[in-house]
Amino acid sequence: MKNRKNGPALDLFRLTAALLVIAIHTSPLAQWWEPADFWLTRVLARVAVPFFLMVSGYFLALGGWRRQKLKRFWAKTALLYLASVLLYLPLNLYAGLPPLGEGIKRLLFEGTFYHLWYLPAALLGSLIACGLNRLGLRFALPIAAVLYLVGLGGDSYYGVAAAIPPLRAVYDGMLSLIGYTRGGLFMAPLFFLLGAAATRWNPGERASAAGFLLSLLAMSGEGLLLHRLGVQRHDSMYLFLPACMAFLFSFLLCRNTGEDKTARTVSMLVYLLHPWIIVLVRGGAKVIGLEQMLIENQGVHFLAVSVLSFGVAGFLAGFRPFAKPEPTARAWREIDLKALQHNVRVLKEQAGPGCGLMAVLKADAYGHGAVPVARALQRQGIVKAYAVACLQEGIQLRKAGIRGTVLILGYTHPDEARLLSRWRLTQAVIGEEYGRQLSQAARGRKIRAHLALDTGMHRLGVPSWDIEAAKRLYQLPNLDFQGVFSHLGVSDSLAPEDMAYTAEQVSAFYTAVMNMQAEGLGTGQLHLQASYGILNLPAQPCDYARVGIALYGVYSSWGPVQRRMDIWPVLSLRARVAAVRELEPGEYAGYGRAFQAERKTRLAVLSIGYADGLPRDFGERNGEVLIRGQRAPVVGRLCMDQMLADVTEIEGVKGGDVVTLIGRDGASLIRAEDLAEQLGTISNEVLARLGSRLPCLCL
Ligand SMILES: *Cc1c(COP(=O)(O)O)cnc(C)c1O
Repeated sequence: MKNRKNGPALDLFRLTAALLVIAIHTSPLAQWWEPADFWLTRVLARVAVPFFLMVSGYFLALGGWRRQKLKRFWAKTALLYLASVLLYLPLNLYAGLPPLGEGIKRLLFEGTFYHLWYLPAALLGSLIACGLNRLGLRFALPIAAVLYLVGLGGDSYYGVAAAIPPLRAVYDGMLSLIGYTRGGLFMAPLFFLLGAAATRWNPGERASAAGFLLSLLAMSGEGLLLHRLGVQRHDSMYLFLPACMAFLFSFLLCRNTGEDKTARTVSMLVYLLHPWIIVLVRGGAKVIGLEQMLIENQGVHFLAVSVLSFGVAGFLAGFRPFAKPEPTARAWREIDLKALQHNVRVLKEQAGPGCGLMAVLKADAYGHGAVPVARALQRQGIVKAYAVACLQEGIQLRKAGIRGTVLILGYTHPDEARLLSRWRLTQAVIGEEYGRQLSQAARGRKIRAHLALDTGMHRLGVPSWDIEAAKRLYQLPNLDFQGVFSHLGVSDSLAPEDMAYTAEQVSAFYTAVMNMQAEGLGTGQLHLQASYGILNLPAQPCDYARVGIALYGVYSSWGPVQRRMDIWPVLSLRARVAAVRELEPGEYAGYGRAFQAERKTRLAVLSIGYADGLPRDFGERNGEVLIRGQRAPVVGRLCMDQMLADVTEIEGVKGGDVVTLIGRDGASLIRAEDLAEQLGTISNEVLARLGSRLPCLCL
């Protein structure tokens, strides 16, 4: 089910990019064949810096270009720049400081040492990109592309532009001010925005690979030709570079799962430190008299600089004073986002044509982590509407950059009307009195609303027969009704009397909708069925199905349904063996002496407890866990943060071993439905109760 080729492709490519940057500054093939070296270092390696810019743009866009994110990016980059300026000051002093004007130009645009131009470019470029992005990508990208074209004339196409005297004067004037056109003004904004566009545009793995190879070929031809013609003033920008980058990036994204923070740190350190290493290698070679071998042979020089740079960076990355703990340190939830996206495709197909999915992300997406789940859905692009239980959950999604409808299914105090409109959230209007209060509290702001109809569950909603009430609600000045929905109380049951009840609810819903329309009330988007509505009812003439539990690849229970679907469980719950101990017959373990060994027993202490969402009497309910691919019974009473399992029958269990509470381990599998059955509840409850201190590890 899982594609083993996938890994943190984005982070790993940073290492390649760092290596390419070293190549640019050491020209490894120059001695062997100059055109090959030109191609490697002045064409191929030119993907490195745009890649770093695109990654930043990608993550800024994922964060919705929020001011706070941009501020953090800016602060981090500025700090890095400051540190680098200081780091290279000794070399600047050695070379002799430039005059003041030249110094300021370098500090603001070119970077104070040859490789450092990237940092001021990222600082200026991110601001311009963010500003342009306000216009929407549709306008921002073409504007950034025009800037890039202007930049080309001061870079690879200088000779072409300079053939026209007035243009030459303009470029020469500009270049004397900013040094190069590669940089924050002309080059960086386009790549930031292409990174942002990659959150929406992805032609798929194969098309991306083909697109990359073709555009690289085109760029190679372009680069070699321009080089031959001798028109380049500099060689950072090509006409085909943006296409090359867009395809390369989408290809990497197709393969990208998870992250590798060490690779990030190492690549950044290699980038910052390698010029110092070059100086040291040269100096060192002179001192020990190996100039011939270490400097004049440029291939060896490149290797020596690379090995030393990566060595030093790897060593420094080992000191991680601010590192956060790995998510797998104690107990964690593993979230298989590919399975989630698969379930979306299956459910969309089942819901029928014209019926979209509204992903129900309440209770932290049933314990799966609302933000990573919502982002994966948004990336996939099929789901365009989301439902949550409360205001706080809705704001959390907006802050994470989620666009589209976010419907609050439950109660929001009318006094919060301002926040509803501020975050463009849609409120379920759950009764007539409530609607009046909300409209009044809105004080002229328009509140997006869906009308909840009670068709027989008698929980929330306006009685579906009361069309007059609906009419009065629609006349309220501040509510903007964009949809009508109801909820089914027993659609998970195939008992004949339950099915009859559901049929009545369904017909009450459509009757109400028709009556409302007859009264001239716009009913907007209709939605009625939840997961079991899809599993047990025929396709409905609605705009959405509100899918919760099935989205996560899980049934509420193993009870019968009309249609089983090929949905895949998304969540696994894992912990670690904290310790293994031997008990003699008759000895007790745990609180309340709830376990007594009847034989010589080996107990594993597991690093998860009732604070993580498992019930305290899990052992008495015949709970089991998987260790080394085998089942181990849970014994004794659960503690807040620990529990015990009998591993007498399992060979070689030791501290640090991974324990599976939900999910697969080797040939064994525990499904959430099994666990729910043991605990006498439904899987919805088991998942929603998972403790918030369990980190989510997204695969
Ligand atoms: C929770 C909820 C859903 C989702 O239900 P599932 O059975 O998990 O798909 C749909 N609609 C409403 C109103 C809900 O409260």
